[in-house]
Amino acid sequence: MYGDVTGTMTEPLTAADRCDRCGAQAYVRVVLPVGELLFCAHHAREHAPKFSDVATHVHDETDRLLAEHGAGTGAAR
Ligand SMILES: [Zn+2]
Repeated sequence: MYGDVTGTMTEPLTAADRCDRCGAQAYVRVVLPVGELLFCAHHAREHAPKFSDVATHVHDETDRLLAEHGAGTGAAR
């Protein structure tokens, strides 16, 4: 069995990607057999126990959120 799925093409999340729950900027993309879900860092944590069982891939950019948080609180970019 293969441990990594390095062949999976996952596009970076952008400011246009929004959390399916609250509309905040999404930092986590959850790929499911039936489609995709986008979550902000808050809701990714909240729903992780549910989607971790069924997700085929989880693209997590919450590290980027932490980096940007240190640069300023505004979303002007
Ligand atoms: Zn959210």
